[in-house]
Amino acid sequence: MTKLNQNLCFEDVQNVVKTYIIQDEELKLIEKAYLYALEKHRGEKRLTGDDYINHPLNVAHILASMNADYETICAGFLHDILENPDNSREELVEQFGEEIVALVDGITTINRLSFNGDSDSKLASQRKILVGLTEDVRVIFIKLADRLHNMRTLWATPSASQKEKAKETLDILVPIAARLGMNQIKSELEDLCLRYSKPDVYFSIVERLNETKLERDQSVEKMIDEVHHILEEHGIKHKIKGRSKSIYSIYKKMDKGKRFNDIYDLSAMRIFVDTESECYLVLGLIHARFKPMPKRFKDYVANPKPNMYQSLHTTVFGVDDKLFEIQIRTYEMDRIAENGIASHWSYKEHGSNVKANIQNAMEQKLQFFKTIMDLRKEESSDEAFVDSVKSDLLKESIYVFTPKGDAIELPNGSTPIDFAYRVHSKVGDSMVGAIVNNQIVSLDYVLKDGDIVNIKTNKSAIPSKEWMNIAYTQQAKNKIKSFFNKADKEEYLKKGEEEVKAELRKRKTSFHEFFTPENTEKLLAETKCANLDELYISIGNGKTTATLALNTVQNNNDTKEELILKKVTEREVKPVQIKDDILVEGIDSLKVNIANCCQPIPGDPVVGYITKGNGVSVHRITCPNMENVDERVIAVHWNDTVSKKYHTSLLIEAENSKNVLLDVISKTSSGDIIVDSINTLKRTGDTSLIEVTIRVPNLEKLRKFMNDLESLKHIISVERLIK
Ligand code: MN
Repeated sequence: MTKLNQNLCFEDVQNVVKTYIIQDEELKLIEKAYLYALEKHRGEKRLTGDDYINHPLNVAHILASMNADYETICAGFLHDILENPDNSREELVEQFGEEIVALVDGITTINRLSFNGDSDSKLASQRKILVGLTEDVRVIFIKLADRLHNMRTLWATPSASQKEKAKETLDILVPIAARLGMNQIKSELEDLCLRYSKPDVYFSIVERLNETKLERDQSVEKMIDEVHHILEEHGIKHKIKGRSKSIYSIYKKMDKGKRFNDIYDLSAMRIFVDTESECYLVLGLIHARFKPMPKRFKDYVANPKPNMYQSLHTTVFGVDDKLFEIQIRTYEMDRIAENGIASHWSYKEHGSNVKANIQNAMEQKLQFFKTIMDLRKEESSDEAFVDSVKSDLLKESIYVFTPKGDAIELPNGSTPIDFAYRVHSKVGDSMVGAIVNNQIVSLDYVLKDGDIVNIKTNKSAIPSKEWMNIAYTQQAKNKIKSFFNKADKEEYLKKGEEEVKAELRKRKTSFHEFFTPENTEKLLAETKCANLDELYISIGNGKTTATLALNTVQNNNDTKEELILKKVTEREVKPVQIKDDILVEGIDSLKVNIANCCQPIPGDPVVGYITKGNGVSVHRITCPNMENVDERVIAVHWNDTVSKKYHTSLLIEAENSKNVLLDVISKTSSGDIIVDSINTLKRTGDTSLIEVTIRVPNLEKLRKFMNDLESLKHIISVERLIK
């Protein structure tokens, strides 16, 4: 892969493409895409001063060096064309067909969202990138190539956005490249990110490397000669390359507290052979001649990493008493190690139908992919989804093994509970204990790289709620939660049924007498339940009461309050507008107030409370004032057509700084939020507590506002205030 921004011409791309694409029509379409892009970008310049076409040329070139299919190369040329609203999508489809334009659409959406800058769009763009993996991974290849070239030319961008681009790249794109096994792109992106996010560190490492280069090169050359000699003696065909460690990997080691001089494996080499068995043969010969360093040997040939990486790693005391890190692999393993999932782009084996093949490989070979699919089903909001993926998948990970030797990848910090749920929810739900490396461990044991984990299960066992606090991954927590949601349902069902029976005893009515087919039908219609079980559950969890429910078919009311309740339930069940914005089921003439304690806004789940003499007051479901009330609770909903803004209060903890209040106000500039008052409640040495009362149209806007506030430098926390 070319390392720098180059002024490429089309022939440069074509030369690479022609090494693996032979179909004439495909080659012609690629040339057509280039000419089309050339025309559409004519006159445009990059910040580097180059003609714009240089960017698509580089992107296509990077894709071609990954052996991308012709559709992806075309999309590489065309990827920025729809950024310009003057260019017509229809025309693009006419010229290149839906398939290619779908790829261009994908990349345009991602780029537009991340360009937007606010926290919601960022989340949405990250989600798009992640979900894109499960839809058509080729969009992500283009995105990676696009970003790689933009990073190579980042010097031309103003320095503030340099740091931001570098951060975003490190946060999302580098981990994705790593999970897809695309080490070559990953490693170049990492070095570029370091250069712009920590230039002083980066250049000091470069300088130190240059200082020691000569000496190192000499030792490496000597070592290579010697290994050549040994392997030739034994008739093993091979190639050896000296290898420089990436600047980022040196930085990571120094960051962990190692000094530059102690990073012993600065000298590294790679040996390539034809077959797997030769890998082990070479390893044996090297260990026979050079003393290996204990505990530094890793066999990723027998136990590939979940991103398909295979290689033998060892560190030996080599010539000149220097330590050498040596990797031994076949040429095929190397192709996969450098390009990962993209190495499945093989025209030789699959002709032109490489798309299906690469998506298949994703599904079969990458655990990462399956977990994203899983989380995609479970997590509904952008935020929850992106959080889960980031915390479970994109963090530094460890590899642990099942007793059968299958590798499982988990974020560092995971416990046997996370392991069990990663294997299967059934394993997690029925876990009774864990054995790690033949020793019984407690469930809060923190797993280490290479651990062999054996989960003991028992069919009748169930999880403990305590596990939610022990589990590290969001995935395990979600699965435990969903187990209890199911279990709670059964409990509610029992409780609801008992309450109905008790109510019937109070009314001196037998079950059969009451539940005639006619009554049952009416009862279910009135309560909007599909069946009796559902009704019991909503009684059991307190959404309604047995009294209220049975009253829908049999009156048994004496008190004044119950008369209101009766009025509520006897009306025809159709939502009626009260005060326009709140719908109270079955009633149209009751006064409605918004509770002042918890200040619900549209979008908040709410309940109504029938007050003595003052109608229904509407609370958030989570309001502590609603904790121990049941009889007077009534279902209420926000009308879908709410257009007014509602008051609500936030409690902000902030560092004392002149600008905090101004910053808060500045985040309301979009006009969705109106600030009514700001009060400083308390000020200590370093921090202040501030109450902000705002008017806001709905929960979504409020969440966004709170996120925006939280991203401010001086703000420590933001929460909703309940008085
Ligand atoms: Mn671009």
